[in-house]
Amino acid sequence: MRAEAKTGQTRKPTMSNKPQNIKGMRDHLPKAMILRQYIVDTLAGVFERHGFEPMQTPILEYAETLEGKIGDEEKLIYRFDDHGGRRLALRYDQTVPLARVVAQYPNEITLPFRRYAVGQSYRGERPARGRYREFWQVDLDLVGSASPLADAEVVAIIDECLTALGFTNFTTQLNHRQILGGIARVSGLGEEAAGGVYRAIDKLDKIGADGVRQELLQSGVAEDAAARILELVQLKGANGDVLEELSERLANDQRALAALDNLRAIISGLDAMGVPEQRFAITPGLARGLSYYTGVVFESVVENPPMGSLLGGGRYDELIGQFSGRALPTVGLAFGLERLHDVIEELGLAPQITLADVFVTIFGPDLAGAALAVARDLRAAGLNAEIALDPAEKLGRQFKHADKRGIALAVVIGPDELARGEVVVRDMRSGEQRSVARAEVVQAVRTARAANH
Ligand code: AMP
Repeated sequence: MRAEAKTGQTRKPTMSNKPQNIKGMRDHLPKAMILRQYIVDTLAGVFERHGFEPMQTPILEYAETLEGKIGDEEKLIYRFDDHGGRRLALRYDQTVPLARVVAQYPNEITLPFRRYAVGQSYRGERPARGRYREFWQVDLDLVGSASPLADAEVVAIIDECLTALGFTNFTTQLNHRQILGGIARVSGLGEEAAGGVYRAIDKLDKIGADGVRQELLQSGVAEDAAARILELVQLKGANGDVLEELSERLANDQRALAALDNLRAIISGLDAMGVPEQRFAITPGLARGLSYYTGVVFESVVENPPMGSLLGGGRYDELIGQFSGRALPTVGLAFGLERLHDVIEELGLAPQITLADVFVTIFGPDLAGAALAVARDLRAAGLNAEIALDPAEKLGRQFKHADKRGIALAVVIGPDELARGEVVVRDMRSGEQRSVARAEVVQAVRTARAANH
């Protein structure tokens, strides 16, 4: 007979059957989930104030929907055949599914179309800090406008969102695909080499200037061209100065000059929308990996704690045309929810949120009905009331439980209170107790709750 059968206990998990989630995918327990919900609600609130509406698509797409859209990173897409032999893929981001939707429902979408989407994305990456295989993106896109005001609105939204979450020290870096293209062209490289240059520059933060130089040389770029590229992509300074310098260095490249004008128009829009100039920085070295970008690209970073980009985005005017045959100018971005969550926690910006407003104790078996009725009244009034479940449990233990759960208030109805038509409202932090008329319990909890906030 096995030991567990004898003792009636279940077997302790061994190393091999230890409960385990998949590497690179996170479980979000309630404490984390409450903070995540607060972040999503805060972002969605800003989006909705700008007229964006929610939308959702399935996590699975036909593999061919995602293929040929994102460039080199395509190798990271999770693909499989389903029971019916269809080739499916887990969505890699929310942008490509949006492009499919816009092409699929032309009669149901009014342009310009402002929508946001919240959900998982999947990438077969090597997991690291801030880099997961399943992560959530809070994605926002503005479809059907080529105006720099659309780009400026999206960048202004970033600013409003990060400010609403309590960030004070962040920078949104801005660049334009045709500035990078221009840098490659004035360095003597042809269009076909541009992709390799973006990929190498994309790693500037990670592998430094020497690493990028090595990578450029390995991809066949000549030494002097690599040196020119590196010098240009590392230009820093006040936005006006960087734009001026780039205008001089890229004077022979019409597309780059048009891109610089586009950035100037976006900056003037940002100014009109009240975004402080020190919060965005023209960063010629910002590449952004995804190949669908065609215009402005941006990402926001905090210097501390190190976390890579909190969000990234840009203009992609040709992606929708890949589905519908009719290009539609679009600009969008995605916040990374795990990264935001971790940085908010590490910077101490997380508000204390307890969902339950009040814990309703049960004084004893005869008083369970009275306690349940109070809980029902509190809930009917829109308050979150958690009830005890064991009438035989000592009141002290019930209070301990409420305390551990971080609930600020408790209600007690003992036999004396019941006889007098009263209840006791207890402030769990101070231990202070107050008797109130049973008919006034809702008002009393509301007042105490407001005083605690
Ligand atoms: P992308 O879709 O690559 O433009 O990324 C947009 C944002 O999503 C980034 O700025 C990150 O905040 C987040 N993100 C991208 N990849 C990952 C990942 N593997 N793990 C966690 N967050 C990610």
